[in-house]
Amino acid sequence: MRIAKDHCFRPSRAYVGVGSNLGDRMSYLAKAARCLVDTAGVKAIQSAPIYETRPVGPAGPDNFLNTVFALDVCLSPLQLLRILHDIEVLMGRPLAPPRGGVGSRTGARTLDLDILFFDDLVFQNDELTVPHPHLHHREFVLRPLNDLDPEFSHPELGLTVRELLAALPPSEQILGVFAEAVTFAHT
Ligand code: ADP
Ligand code: MG
Repeated sequence: MRIAKDHCFRPSRAYVGVGSNLGDRMSYLAKAARCLVDTAGVKAIQSAPIYETRPVGPAGPDNFLNTVFALDVCLSPLQLLRILHDIEVLMGRPLAPPRGGVGSRTGARTLDLDILFFDDLVFQNDELTVPHPHLHHREFVLRPLNDLDPEFSHPELGLTVRELLAALPPSEQILGVFAEAVTFAHT
């Protein structure tokens, strides 16, 4: 029996939060999608609609474009994190992380790619915390996540994405939604 080298029997489902508030924001989202399509180990990819959102805190003059990608991957969580980091750097993001560590959402950035969930994994080390520790407070994450998979259950909180979104206090963070999701075609 021959097994293809990159075959894996059950890919993992990762949800990746995507944000940009600097430069040609839409093009950074599209380029990130294309980089992921071209990445060995990424088997399938889908995008939620794109939302325009107000920055939280001192995050620069421009609003964010935010969405979520659903990825089917034959990769470990840390492999995926490093791939996302390489794509951020390729898009011109400075190497140094903003002050405040994970979840700070401070500073303007061409592209921010965060692992929100990785299957139902609960994991923490110096590089990676999964589920993302702030996702359940953030409408700009929960809304696109809810478009993709409202019944996905947060492995620590035991609530679905739909329930987490319903539990958020009213905010004026979301300014609008684009009719088109990110496309993955090569230009
Ligand atoms: P932000 O929290 O605003 O997204 P960064 O993107 O600069 O800030 O992330 C800072 C650090 O957070 C990265 O160096 C990365 O190693 C770490 N990190 C921890 N957990 C995660 C996660 N779930 N997704 C992405 N990065 C994470
Ligand atoms: Mg990040």
